[in-house]
Amino acid sequence: LLKNTCKICNTEVDKFVSKKILNKYQVDFFRCSNCKFIQPEKEYWLEEAYSSAIASLDIGLVYRNLVWRPIVKKIIKKEFNSKKSFLDYGGGYGLFVRLMRDEGLDFYRQDIYCENKFAQFFDIEDVKSVEKFELLTAFEVFEHLVNPIEELEKMFRYSDSILFSTELQPDEFKLRTLKRTLEDWHYFTPETGQHIALYSLESLHVVAKKFNKNLYSDGNYLHLLTSKKINPMTFMVIKWKRYLNKAISMIYPSSNGSLIPKDYEFIKAKTNL
Ligand SMILES: [Zn+2]
Repeated sequence: LLKNTCKICNTEVDKFVSKKILNKYQVDFFRCSNCKFIQPEKEYWLEEAYSSAIASLDIGLVYRNLVWRPIVKKIIKKEFNSKKSFLDYGGGYGLFVRLMRDEGLDFYRQDIYCENKFAQFFDIEDVKSVEKFELLTAFEVFEHLVNPIEELEKMFRYSDSILFSTELQPDEFKLRTLKRTLEDWHYFTPETGQHIALYSLESLHVVAKKFNKNLYSDGNYLHLLTSKKINPMTFMVIKWKRYLNKAISMIYPSSNGSLIPKDYEFIKAKTNL
């Protein structure tokens, strides 16, 4: 079955690249000629992609939560009412909700696919009195969505503001600097088969227009769709800090770099993925 229109803007899509998913399925990916959104052909392998063996490869989970914690806290304190309630959508085991509650923020968890382990009694089902949440967060969610627009409609029913992470397609300049092509971009992650919605900044602009929201983005990982007007410097600072940290770690490489990349390869070999 061939999808021939973009899930974001309904424009015709062109075949872009073919990837071997889960080491066995040859899958075509299509790219929108208008908003550059990338989507695969019909996703028939997803059940397999979410098996426990694949999940064992997600060893960056704790690291990511620790990275986002201070950034999200800062954005909430600066731009939102920190006394209100918040929802972590697709919140997984509830680790982020727990971390934010530890920081004094009234966070709740929503996730129909995952057991709440760290934030029991602070689940969406436990929320009785809130009409709308001050802000909805969604980390590592958007690239997994089969129907992004439908899911966004659901999210905006919970809140007028969505703060989310998803890695954007690198632009021509970045690709040239790294001597890479978009075809071999790491975010396709064919070994897990879970990334089925790959956004460009243009596709996020289309989404913003569709839902009549403002878009703020660091141009790479973190994005905010909101009815509010916020200080655009907030997101610029996040970007600059990331570059600064990268530069520092290049000049002063720590003797004990993270074992995450090494462990990832180790588990991949162990599980035959
Ligand atoms: Zn499109």
